[in-house]
Amino acid sequence: MKCPFCGYEDSKVTDSRPADEKIRRRRECMKCRGRFTTYEMVELPLLMVEKRDGTYETFDRNKLIKGVFSAIKKRPVTIDQVSEIADYVENYFANELRTIAGSKEIGDLVLNRLREIDPIAYVRFASVYEDFTDIDSFVAAISEFEDISEAGASDKINTITEENKNGSDT
Ligand SMILES: [Zn+2]
Repeated sequence: MKCPFCGYEDSKVTDSRPADEKIRRRRECMKCRGRFTTYEMVELPLLMVEKRDGTYETFDRNKLIKGVFSAIKKRPVTIDQVSEIADYVENYFANELRTIAGSKEIGDLVLNRLREIDPIAYVRFASVYEDFTDIDSFVAAISEFEDISEAGASDKINTITEENKNGSDT
């Protein structure tokens, strides 16, 4: 971290605190004693997602958020809550020091949180997600599901819930 006053490479940190998703650091130049502030991104370890077909891709927080958003359309779920779900997933694997996560594991973590937040969003997500890394087909499936539920077939939701129960028992 170069000193902005004299260009010297070495500085010491005099204070460090979180600011939004960054860390704010007060630094003091070891040469000219000039003081300056830096904002540094918090780096999460790289997480790989193992898809159902056995291939890998890097975890993409935005993709996850996009998928959850499809499930919460017109539901009383806030952006903050969706962001918290993404934090929860990321922190879960970071805390476990895991660098590989199964796509199904990620889906299950999302479901756990959605169930607490909004049962309808939970059912929507549960009924269509197969592989969260395949967001395009997920979004398409959600839209179809929405057309059905908007036609007033609330028993369709019950049917799907039953199917999920049966599915998880096997
Ligand atoms: Zn300096």
